[in-house]
Amino acid sequence: MIKLDIDEGKKYRGKIKVAELEDGSKVEIPYFVMRGRRRRPILLLNAALHGDELNGVEVIMRLFEELNPMEVNGTIVAVPVVNVLAFRSRDRFDVIEKRDLNRKFPGKKDGNVTEKIAYHFFNEFVKKADFGIDLHAGMKGHLLLPHGRARTLGDYAPKLEYYQALGTDIIFYHEGEKGMLNITAGKRGIPVVCFEIGEADRLDEFYINEGIKGVKNFMKYFGMLSGLPEMPARQILLQGYIETRASVGGMFYSKARVGDVVKKGDVIGYIRKINGKKVYVKAEKNSTVMGIRTLSAVREGDPIAWMLSFENAEILEIKKKVKIRRNRILEKAEKFIK
Ligand SMILES: [Zn+2]
Repeated sequence: MIKLDIDEGKKYRGKIKVAELEDGSKVEIPYFVMRGRRRRPILLLNAALHGDELNGVEVIMRLFEELNPMEVNGTIVAVPVVNVLAFRSRDRFDVIEKRDLNRKFPGKKDGNVTEKIAYHFFNEFVKKADFGIDLHAGMKGHLLLPHGRARTLGDYAPKLEYYQALGTDIIFYHEGEKGMLNITAGKRGIPVVCFEIGEADRLDEFYINEGIKGVKNFMKYFGMLSGLPEMPARQILLQGYIETRASVGGMFYSKARVGDVVKKGDVIGYIRKINGKKVYVKAEKNSTVMGIRTLSAVREGDPIAWMLSFENAEILEIKKKVKIRRNRILEKAEKFIK
């Protein structure tokens, strides 16, 4: 059992055991609890369901250091590294089991270690929370614009207000898969928002700060911190996902940056083949760059950009009083949105 009931104004660091390994060493998940002036609501923050996604780990560690519990209304329960085996492997998955923890929820008590981690994390942490933020980053070499990923599955649709509360310019709306944390928790009435910041393997100050801003916006929006969240009055909900792949092999040079707005036919970058010939990579539709490849070498078929087209885009208006900031993506994209 995790220690959730601590005194008002206190911080606590603990860990829970979830399994045992070949050599008898224990698999333990570290966690933090910060108890503010009230017990509820309980906000869950977690990172590293995928072990190489580090920006979120840093966001949680910094917030836990920085926040004064007496300024928090409610309790924060934070799990900086959920997939501890994958984290040690410095990889998305544990090297031995090679399974995606974010397809295993709600987990299995008597399953393999990945399923046990899912089970204990889900039962000990997720079920006790009123809502949560699940921090992710792009895979190795996939740099992602800060955004929430609101996922549907079957007749389940997430409540978008929780995603809006992060205060990002865009929200990516798409169909998810069985066993994902935000879908499994959402179906049980616990909104857990998936928040993407930057790329795997490296800490990046810009994306860490965007992550901290997003979490604080969320807390302010729901009254857990005083002050107004700083966010655009209008955010864009996008669902036209396009994965652009290399048509030839060589070295990829990106010309676009994440968050850029491009017209159909605009150059995103080029691939220089080993024989010196340049092949330009162009936008297939009017879209924004959600993610861009940061690894240079590509072979035919490798993904190089992740675009979100403005087809079927929706504008979401903020429902509460906020401190309004510009939405630079929307300013450039408005002409493409019907
Ligand atoms: Zn992830």
